[in-house]
Amino acid sequence: PSGSGPLLSAEGVSISFLGLRALDNASVTVGAGEILGLVGPNGSGKSTLVNIISGIYRPGDGRVTFDGAAITGLPDHAVARRGALRTFQDPRLVPAFTVRENVLLGGHRLYRQNPLAAALNLPGALREDAAMLGRADAIIAMAGLSHLADTPVRDLPYGDQRMTELSRVILADPRLVMLDEPAAGLSEVELQRLGGLVRHLKERGVGVILIEHHMDFLNELVDRVVVLDSGRVIYQGGMAGMYRDPAVVAAYLGT
Ligand code: ADP
Ligand code: MG
Repeated sequence: PSGSGPLLSAEGVSISFLGLRALDNASVTVGAGEILGLVGPNGSGKSTLVNIISGIYRPGDGRVTFDGAAITGLPDHAVARRGALRTFQDPRLVPAFTVRENVLLGGHRLYRQNPLAAALNLPGALREDAAMLGRADAIIAMAGLSHLADTPVRDLPYGDQRMTELSRVILADPRLVMLDEPAAGLSEVELQRLGGLVRHLKERGVGVILIEHHMDFLNELVDRVVVLDSGRVIYQGGMAGMYRDPAVVAAYLGT
């Protein structure tokens, strides 16, 4: 890491869509090995913030710093190349590829430069690297997907697709991982495995931003939460304090 600041810092970020202020002077930081929960009612700007950090949207105002360098407004593939990777609310996989093939994309040198280009080059990648295959299968096992490794992902339920997408991100050796509602639709067993993968990232010093509505799940994992409401940060701190915070209570009660 360069310097002594946080791994990721977004400062004073604002963006509007057709006059609607989706983020209004929002700031967050994430340290290496820290799990930050990102919470807030639907439409409060959580996904938009991750879209800005990951380079999908360019903010109207504010700056984003990753590992000491400004990344504000860089395209998503440039942000990914630096090691900040994310998953989507709707998993983005190659439907005809198996679980293992989709995960292996994460290990491909092209993946960080352009995730779609990597898909075109997959057969080469598969032949290339026995060590990578071993790593992929180890992550697939942690994700509880070993019995599905040779199944095309288009035949799988959403939960398995989500775990496949996260496995691919882990194989890519990220420094920061952003997860947009990864627990949605997962069974209790799958939640345990998801939690295990997130802890595995933390233990390796990876910073994690976890957007999640599942409060019990968050409570077991996060070091800190940031609460958004109407694009503004209304709380940051521990989860216990969040439940007592008047602004948070008002946001959730809609008062
Ligand atoms: P959350 O993830 O917290 O549910 P979002 O970040 O998806 O909320 O959305 C915040 C607000 O920004 C919503 O009002 C949403 O409709 C709006 N928004 C997000 N992305 C776009 C977009 N590409 N075009 C227009 N409006 C958008
Ligand atoms: Mg969202």
